Amino acid sequence: MADLLAWTAGVGLGIVLATSVASETAHSLSAPGGWWTAVSRVTGFVAAYSLLIMVLLTCRFPWLERSVGQDTLVRWHRKVGGWPLVLAAVHIVTVTIGYAAPFGTGVPQQFWQFIRNYPDVLMSLVGFGLLVMAAVSSIRAARRRMSYETWWVIHLYMYLGVALTVAHQVTTGATFIGHPSSRLVWIGVWVGAALVIVMSRVIVPLYRNYRLQLRVVSTHLEAPGVHSIVLRGKNLDTLAVSGGQFFQWRFLTRDLWWHAHPYSLSALPRPPFLRVTVKGLGDHSRTVPSVRPGTRVFVEGPYGVFTHERVESTNVILIAAGVGITPLRALLEELPARVRLRVIVRASDPDTIVHGAEMHELVAARGGMLETMIGSREHVRIDEHSLRRFVTEPEDTDVFVCGPEEFTRSVVVALTALHVPPRRIHREEFAF
Ligand SMILES: Cc1cc2nc3c(=O)[nH]c(=O)nc-3n(C[C@H](O)[C@H](O)[C@H](O)COP(=O)(O)OP(=O)(O)OC[C@H]3O[C@@H](n4cnc5c(N)ncnc54)[C@H](O)[C@@H]3O)c2cc1C
Repeated sequence: MADLLAWTAGVGLGIVLATSVASETAHSLSAPGGWWTAVSRVTGFVAAYSLLIMVLLTCRFPWLERSVGQDTLVRWHRKVGGWPLVLAAVHIVTVTIGYAAPFGTGVPQQFWQFIRNYPDVLMSLVGFGLLVMAAVSSIRAARRRMSYETWWVIHLYMYLGVALTVAHQVTTGATFIGHPSSRLVWIGVWVGAALVIVMSRVIVPLYRNYRLQLRVVSTHLEAPGVHSIVLRGKNLDTLAVSGGQFFQWRFLTRDLWWHAHPYSLSALPRPPFLRVTVKGLGDHSRTVPSVRPGTRVFVEGPYGVFTHERVESTNVILIAAGVGITPLRALLEELPARVRLRVIVRASDPDTIVHGAEMHELVAARGGMLETMIGSREHVRIDEHSLRRFVTEPEDTDVFVCGPEEFTRSVVVALTALHVPPRRIHREEFAF
C-alpha cells in the first residue's frame, strides 16, 4: 500500500512539474529575471502540491485509515511537513528577485510593492504565516509545552493558511492565467480534497453518531488510576470495528465537549454496550471516569490497523504493559482460531494488571499460554534473553506490542535481534 501511494504521489508530482515547466517559453526565460521567475513558479506549484498531500494524509479518509493506519499517516504527514514551507519560502524570495530585475528596483522595494498593490499576494503571505505558525507548534519541543487542545486549534488555522495560499496561485499564477483547463483541473483537485475532508471529518461522524446515540452507563475502577467506562448505544451491531482499533472520544459535558482524545476499545462491542479503559494521566483521562451516567458521547472512527487482519503467521505473541493491554484484550477476541497464542503481560505489581482475569479466561479458552512478568524494570527485564523462549519460529511469528514508548522500543529491539522480520512486528503507539 505504501508503495502504491508513493507511486501515485510521484505521478502527481511529475504532472505538476511538467505543467509548470511547459508554461515557460524561451522568451519568458530570456527576459531579465526570467530564470528567477521560472524557479519561483515551479517551487510555488510544488509547494501547493505538497500541501495537498499533507492535508490528504490527515483527512481521516476511512479507506486510508483502514489500510495504512493513523500513526503511519501522521508520521508521513510530519515527514512531508517541512517541504511546503521551504519551497514556499524559496518561491517568495525568487519571485521577488525575478519581478525586481526588469525594473532595477531593489528586492525590499519590490516586496513592498507586492504587499501594497497585490491583495491576493498579501493574503497568501498571511496564509504562509499561518502555515509557519502551525509548523512551529508541531516541533516536539514546542508541542510538549502546550496542551493538545491549543496545538489542535493552531492546527485548524492551517486550513485557512492553505486556502489563502492556493487561492493566490489560481488567480495570479502564470501556469493558470490563460490556461482555463489547467485552472479547472487544479480547482477541481482542491474542491475534491475539501469534499473528502468534510465528508470524512464532519458528515460521516455526524451520521454515525446520530445512529449510535452513545451514552455513558457506568464507570469501574480496574486498577490503581485506571477506569473502564461502559457505554450504551443503538445499532452497535452495524458498527464495523475490529479489536485493537480506537476512536476519538468526545464526552459531551460542559468542560469536556471540545476535547477529542483517542482511546482503544478494551473489548469488542457487546450490543448495546461498548467499553473503553482509561488510565488517568492528564486533564482529560483523569476527568473522564467521573462523568455522570447518561452523558452523551460523540465518537470519530474507528481508526487503526492494529488488528487481526495483520496476522499471517502460525504463531502470535501479544506483549502488553500497563494500559497498553486494552487494545490487545480486544484483539485477542478476534484472533484466528488456527494460531498458536502466547501472551506476555509486564507489570511492576500484580495489582496493577488491567483486565488480568479477563485475559486469563480468554487465553485459556483458546488453549494459549499467558505469562506475567512481575517486578521492577531493573529486576525483570524484557530483552532478547527473556523473550527467546517465546520466539521459537521467528520467521513464522506475528508480534503485537502495546505499552509505554520506552517499553515498546526495547521489545522491538529484542524481537529484531531474535530475527522476527520487521513487517511482522505490529505496535500501537499511545501518542502521535
Ligand atoms: C491510538 C491511541 C490509542 C490510545 N488508547 C488508549 C487507551 O485505550 N487507554 C488509555 O488510557 N490511553 C490511550 N491512549 C492515550 C490517551 O489518548 C492519552 O493518555 C490521553 O489522550 C491523555 O490526555 P490527557 O488530557 O489526559 O493528558 P495530557 O497531559 O494532555 O497528555 C498526556 C499524553 O497523551 C498525549 N495526547 C494527549 N491528547 C492526545 C490526543 N488527542 N491525541 C494523541 N495523543 C494525545 C500527549 O501528547 C501526551 O504524551 C491512546 C492514544 C493513542 C494515540
